[in-house]
Amino acid sequence: MRASALLSIALLLGALGLGVEIGLHEWQQRRATPQVPLDPAFLRLSPLEIVQLPLAVRFDQPLGTAHGALTYNAQPFRMARHLGDDLNGIGGGNSDLGDPVYAAGAGRVVYLGRPGPGWGNMIILAHHVPDLSEPSRERVIQTVYAHLDTFTVEADQIVPRGFQIGTVGRVDEKNFAHLHFEVREGPYINPSVGYADTPLNCLSPERFLAQHRGAPEDLLNTAPVFPLETAPSTSK
Ligand SMILES: [Zn+2]
Repeated sequence: MRASALLSIALLLGALGLGVEIGLHEWQQRRATPQVPLDPAFLRLSPLEIVQLPLAVRFDQPLGTAHGALTYNAQPFRMARHLGDDLNGIGGGNSDLGDPVYAAGAGRVVYLGRPGPGWGNMIILAHHVPDLSEPSRERVIQTVYAHLDTFTVEADQIVPRGFQIGTVGRVDEKNFAHLHFEVREGPYINPSVGYADTPLNCLSPERFLAQHRGAPEDLLNTAPVFPLETAPSTSK
């Protein structure tokens, strides 16, 4: 009886010791694993900020004219598992390197940075978009602009439609300059993968822009601004 009681106490103490040992081990492991900081370039919007995003009732093409004139789509959405459109200037090769890239719609810069290999410089804009099938509802849509050469906006900036946000760049020496353009559903900020077996939360950019054009097909752009030296005199 006494021996078994002693044995029970010994087992209990052993188990307690093991527990302390496991706890200590876990604690040491946690200390040894460096905590990866969140990329500060990602702006995590609060529900209030999502509601306050600029309402985008019209969208234009991000390259060339508002209609996308002088551009072509070299690799459309879902071709070879592609999650976006690859927009190019009609000059071919690297002739569009450095061309302006415009905000497709009014939005807020929720990501600006280099998310990883294959992407180069990337901007993600978040837009508040009326739901065409249910007017009382609104959607959060993101437009993604990748392989940029330069940025001409800052993180967290609010931009109007047609505002220049960067310039066309190259992601590597193997590919000619082009704009990888995506349209994504939802507020989730993720660099994503560019190619996938399923569309994930990506929408066809061409189809989305056509559905949310918000302007007649024959609408002409504003007249070009006169070069300074030929501008009409403003002296009275
Ligand atoms: Zn692409």
